[in-house]
Amino acid sequence: MNTLFDPKKHPHRRYNPLLNEWILVSPQRADRPWQGQKEKVTEENRPVHDPDCYLCSGNTRANGTQNPLYTGSYVFNNDFGALLNTEIDFSGEHSGFFTLLPERGINRVVCFSEDHSLTLPEMSLEQIKNVVEVWQEQFNELGALEYINYVQIFENKGSIMGCSNPHPHGQIWAQSSIPTMVQKTQDQLKFYFEKHKRTLLEDYLEQEIKAGERIVTENEYFTALVPFWASWPYEIMIVSRQKRENIAG
Ligand SMILES: [Zn+2]
Repeated sequence: MNTLFDPKKHPHRRYNPLLNEWILVSPQRADRPWQGQKEKVTEENRPVHDPDCYLCSGNTRANGTQNPLYTGSYVFNNDFGALLNTEIDFSGEHSGFFTLLPERGINRVVCFSEDHSLTLPEMSLEQIKNVVEVWQEQFNELGALEYINYVQIFENKGSIMGCSNPHPHGQIWAQSSIPTMVQKTQDQLKFYFEKHKRTLLEDYLEQEIKAGERIVTENEYFTALVPFWASWPYEIMIVSRQKRENIAG
């Protein structure tokens, strides 16, 4: 007789409806001994103002620009951005194996606080609200530009993620094209809505709340959960309980 399938023991595939992709889950591998890298919790005491930090208020950045004596949030164009805002004429290769297209955009840095020692979750609710309002303003301002079609607000945290500076800050990428994964997700959400006249996320959330297995925390506005199709051990998705098109509401 064959063994009865147990999702906690047997390798299987899970469907990700946001990307229309399958991911491989190997639960039995959680039993193996871990001999790889272990992360240490860094408990350094950071000063409130670091004279060598290029994000601290009043300091001079690598390109010679001096930060104002700001308090609260401070936004500036990234001095070493991955995208350039230059309008360029392009008449190069458009097809075949050597297809390329120029990408135009704006990279900004958002300092969350003048206090070098803080991280976002250590800030007061009022201070965090101020940061969210700045995100909304930036989304509206950059999104209104005629050549911008996607605005991504994010924070790379910790040196392993390539974050080179401990000062509390995040980034904004505004670009002319819609990234592939975002486009796929948009297509999936649209397809679902056209078919069911309900949003995919409201239906998914309803079923997750019923299942009660993967909810991490929730309040009246948001639910944080580990998606059924998570690819990473600590993957968490935050779903708005109210239907919103974007961060600006
Ligand atoms: Zn700093």
